[in-house]
Amino acid sequence: MTEILDGEALAAEVREGLVAAIERLADAGARPTLATVLMSEDPASETYVSMKQDDCAEVGIEARDIEIDPDAPAGELYDTVDDLNADPEVNGVLVQMPVPDHVDKRRVLRRIDPAKDVDGFHPENVGRLVAGDARFKPCTPHGIQKLLAEAGVDPEGKDAVVVGRSDIVGKPMANLLMQKTEGGNATVTVCHSRTDDLAAKTRGADILVAAAGAPGMIDGDMLSEGAVVVDVGVNRVDADTEKGYELVGDVDFESAREKARAITPVPGGVGPMTRAMLLYNTVKATAQDAGVDVDLP
Ligand code: NDP
Repeated sequence: MTEILDGEALAAEVREGLVAAIERLADAGARPTLATVLMSEDPASETYVSMKQDDCAEVGIEARDIEIDPDAPAGELYDTVDDLNADPEVNGVLVQMPVPDHVDKRRVLRRIDPAKDVDGFHPENVGRLVAGDARFKPCTPHGIQKLLAEAGVDPEGKDAVVVGRSDIVGKPMANLLMQKTEGGNATVTVCHSRTDDLAAKTRGADILVAAAGAPGMIDGDMLSEGAVVVDVGVNRVDADTEKGYELVGDVDFESAREKARAITPVPGGVGPMTRAMLLYNTVKATAQDAGVDVDLP
């Protein structure tokens, strides 16, 4: 029987653990606050930000919602980040990507105070992750690490193949899997659009993480029997639904589940864990700011 890795259920457990940590912080006079900054009218970005705010409300994190006109000068975003960095009541700062073309994305990421960088994208935090001393693990790969642990999948000694090398998923995922620490110790191969004979690589995977943004590109033929398959992809494809589309992953679920020992569904796998780990990082940032020890789930 193929195990379906239930991200919704695990995310609910993580949130429950965070509520306890937030109560402990409240006893110490600290209330976690996450500021989200949206400089876009893209409906998907608006949805992501509003979901993050709903998640905060559910666990007792205060959410500050800042919207900047996408046509405003880039300086307005930089100044907003500076203000949030300087605000002692704000523990986490997240700028929703993508930002408009006239804004220098790297400059934005560098500007966020690394201690408030709950996405974990500031170069200092990227460096710390690579050095095995992570302050904030990026939410998606961190959530995947938790999903694997929950399913009893120990990457140690396994061949892990990550398809995708983005800064937000592929690279940090590969890094976490190869770290000399619990949840790591895998032998990692990173594939991308220039990889020759992708199927030969994916068939060698004990653990496959698909993060390419290409609907259904990994099918059962590209997997070996008993692989653990993590599907990060969230792709809109035309469908005869009310909205005119549906969300599918990078993995062809039906053929992959025939081979896989365990697999994440889309939706309901990685996505909810990504959201939960943002809350986790915000609580962690608050505990660090307040100098309070809390147990994190
Ligand atoms: P990017 O577009 O930034 O990166 C995609 C990566 O996949 C690139 O490295 C690209 O290679 C590689 N790639 C693309 N097509 C192929 C292919 N046919 N064969 C091999 N490699 C390929 O995407 P993200 O990392 O931001 O996101 C990936 C997917 O995950 C998207 O569907 C996104 O929506 C989803 N996502 C889901 C999250 C969740 O919580 N569930 C969170 C974040 C993302 P190259 O570098 O050569 O261009």
